[in-house]
Amino acid sequence: MEFSEDDRPYEEIIRVISPPHCAKGPHGCDACAEAAKIKVICLVRVYFDPGQFARPLMELSMDGDTSYYEFDVVRRFENEAEAIKYALDNGIEDMEI
Ligand SMILES: [Zn+2]
Repeated sequence: MEFSEDDRPYEEIIRVISPPHCAKGPHGCDACAEAAKIKVICLVRVYFDPGQFARPLMELSMDGDTSYYEFDVVRRFENEAEAIKYALDNGIEDMEI
């Protein structure tokens, strides 16, 4: 568990997701609808507490509980090898690719 600039606990995980274009989501924004078609391996920072600013939500299974969490996409990987190397180098234990 680490803490962000505004002191919120977060965890960084690696998942194959469609990184959203903005917080409106595919129903409110054409660019988001377009982005939803593309799957990318991403380093995702998941926040456990709600924050001041609207962030996109993602349904995630964390420690056996499935819920919606706020998240930021921190990094995008080109391929699985790059993601695995990053996970090993940075101690990311929660990876589903
Ligand atoms: Zn958008």
